[in-house]
Amino acid sequence: MESLFSLANRKILVTGGAQGIGKAVAFRLAEAGANVGILDRNGEGAQSVADELKLRFPSRNFAGFVCDVTDYEAVNRTVDDFVRCFDGIDGLFNNAGTCIHKEVENVTPEEWLRVVNVNYNGLFYVAQAVGKRFIATKTKGTIVNTGSMSGVIINLPQPQTSYNSSKAAVIHLTKSLAVEWAQYGIRVNCISPGYIKTELSGMAKPEWIEYWLQAVPFHRMGLPDELAGAVIYFMSEASTYTSGANLIIDGCFTST
Ligand code: NDP
Repeated sequence: MESLFSLANRKILVTGGAQGIGKAVAFRLAEAGANVGILDRNGEGAQSVADELKLRFPSRNFAGFVCDVTDYEAVNRTVDDFVRCFDGIDGLFNNAGTCIHKEVENVTPEEWLRVVNVNYNGLFYVAQAVGKRFIATKTKGTIVNTGSMSGVIINLPQPQTSYNSSKAAVIHLTKSLAVEWAQYGIRVNCISPGYIKTELSGMAKPEWIEYWLQAVPFHRMGLPDELAGAVIYFMSEASTYTSGANLIIDGCFTST
């Protein structure tokens, strides 16, 4: 059983790992045995998570990387740096994301592009950079993208069309990559969280949170740690016949 879910000796890059879901999952990946690189545009935060991990698991390799996923060249440079530092790469938790709340008729092109560039284009740049290295080195690597339940339903009461549509694109991109790269033994899956307590969801108005807590059958928000098992599953030998999947983890919200 242990070997089924073990990530021993794996070399996994986590984007958006300075806080929130990325940080919590990075700790669990390390507990499962992985060496982990933390990529974030908040370089100090990324380094501090890597330092915390090193204190906890001194025999393993951890590093922080400052990088904005919307910068194609920087992404490719950073993935090269990761490969040098870890002597390879075999996993990616592609998780950096952002959100704005604004009525669709008032969203400016800059605001629209900011969300789409991080959540969709940036996520693609990182997946492509890592996928290319998997292919070049014949590595049967695993990629787990962070989508959202907002990619399959439309949330109320907050207006967030740019976010919803970017996350729907992430889910379909996951399936496209999974099919194109199946021939190389690369697996690509997606987690779609519901309302999770992080700095990002902390931006919500208190009356929206009240509405969500009524609407979610579990009547609570999820914790970042409650997503980690799914990521470990998709990264591990437990899921060798699973690719192109989107696992919704939402306290039953989208079942209603
Ligand atoms: P947080 O904002 O708490 O953490 C996201 C991290 O990603 C931050 O450190 C952020 O840096 C970083 N980041 C943002 N943009 C970029 C970029 N362009 N390049 C590199 N790093 C970047 O968010 P969560 O942990 O809540 O969210 C993580 C993922 O989960 C996102 O994709 C989000 O959409 C998704 N998700 C979250 C849900 C929730 O309820 N929290 C629900 C469903 C999905 P900075 O602080 O500087 O912005």
